[in-house]
Amino acid sequence: MERREFLRALGGSAIGLAAAGGAFGDDSVTGYVAPVPADTGASGRVVVIGGGMAGATVAKYLRVWGGAKVKVTLVERESVYVSNIMSNLVLNGSRTISGLTYNWDKLASNYGIDRVQGEVVGVDRKAHRVLLAAGGPLDYDKLVIAPGIDFDRIPGIESDALQAQFPHAWKAGAQTTALRNQIRAMTSRDTFVMTIPKAPYRCPPGPYERACVVADWLKRNRRGAQVIVLDENAGIIAERASFERAFTQTHAGVITYVPNAIVDHIDPGSLTVFTAMGEFKGKVISPIPRQRAPRLLYDVGLVNDTGVPGDTIGEKRWSLVDAKTYEYLDNGIGGDVHIIGDPANHGQPKAGHVANQEAKVCADAITRLLRNDLPDANPVTNSACYSPITFETASWLTAVYRYNSASRKMETFTSNAGVAAAGEAASASKDNFEQMNKWFRQLMADTYA
Ligand SMILES: Cc1cc2nc3c(=O)[nH]c(=O)nc-3n(C[C@H](O)[C@H](O)[C@H](O)COP(=O)(O)OP(=O)(O)OC[C@H]3O[C@@H](n4cnc5c(N)ncnc54)[C@H](O)[C@@H]3O)c2cc1C
Repeated sequence: MERREFLRALGGSAIGLAAAGGAFGDDSVTGYVAPVPADTGASGRVVVIGGGMAGATVAKYLRVWGGAKVKVTLVERESVYVSNIMSNLVLNGSRTISGLTYNWDKLASNYGIDRVQGEVVGVDRKAHRVLLAAGGPLDYDKLVIAPGIDFDRIPGIESDALQAQFPHAWKAGAQTTALRNQIRAMTSRDTFVMTIPKAPYRCPPGPYERACVVADWLKRNRRGAQVIVLDENAGIIAERASFERAFTQTHAGVITYVPNAIVDHIDPGSLTVFTAMGEFKGKVISPIPRQRAPRLLYDVGLVNDTGVPGDTIGEKRWSLVDAKTYEYLDNGIGGDVHIIGDPANHGQPKAGHVANQEAKVCADAITRLLRNDLPDANPVTNSACYSPITFETASWLTAVYRYNSASRKMETFTSNAGVAAAGEAASASKDNFEQMNKWFRQLMADTYA
């Protein structure tokens, strides 16, 4: 099935992206504004922690599907949200951080969501109460936690100052701009070294995409400069055919890919990364650290899972949830706490498009529970991801998932309509690059407008 037909098919599904209300000429978030029904039979107070891809979407769809009697409060510590998606394109100058910046104003005005700017520091699960660093507590009937991820500190560069000197830019913002400036300061004799953490981490294809974007920019602007990719994994873990082609053909002679390069430490003085596969020096070093659920989830006692099958870190870093409702799975006082987005383990990749999908399944489940109904027993979701390979071409990756009631996780499957369980682009193309921009605008409009 052609890529366009595939996306059209997904758009028609209950949890596909909402239809855009007209062509998007730029990145402003405008789109179809669904009405908030007066009464769907559901009522209650829902507090959402985190206004990223997962939290913003769940807040919106709780109102659209739950109606006016579902009171939704969204707590977010930042004043704006900077999209990680597309942020690799800041590195080659084709996008800006300001062009990737969103806020929650339209969610408040279009859907009547109460927005609280503040830091959540605790949750009293017995009392059903969210605790803030400043200001009064928030009581809930259902709680959705969507705080994204935290990063490990790499030995040798633990301090804040050294973290800034070696920007991973795996949370878009100031580090992304700093990394772009470091790349610009390179000469044609310099080397860019990046590391890829052991899976699972946020956005599986993202690091390989970054290697391509940086190599492409260096080829055009600093011919002779090199890119070394140090991967802690045994091989490319996403869009393998596309990135193998990119590394060995499109960017041959520029990118050196080193698998199994477990990072031991970084020496900031000699600008050297020490790994299981040897020592690598670079003028610019961008080490993407291993990732885990944020501190808040540890403090509240909601981290109970090692990760996906094949995970080799082997520590409890994630929150196991039931992918039918995204309720946290434990044997104690569970219930009423749902975890979505990157910190949750549910069988799907940690990605923004998937976070948007999880949020819709979760919003639907909570709406049903709040009217004493049963959740959908067989949720289906999809994942779509585009990866720029050069400044004007991109590849893509898609997957469709359905609920497995035995594992309580999502797994890939081939739908009745013949949409394959998973697939990737046959080649990188300009057409894919245009489709990528449309997909991104629609995803962000569906999340923030
Ligand atoms: C370079 C890069 C490229 C990517 N490209 C893609 C792509 O092409 N496609 C794709 O699908 N995904 C992509 N991703 C992945 C995507 O960005 C993440 O998977 C997605 O943002 C996860 O959404 P989330 O809501 O779980 O977390 P986030 O989007 O990180 O949102 C979490 C929010 O919670 C807030 N928060 C955290 N703790 C608290 C607290 N205690 N109190 C109040 N607020 C709090 C944070 O401020 C933040 O706004 C990319 C990621 C990177 C780094």
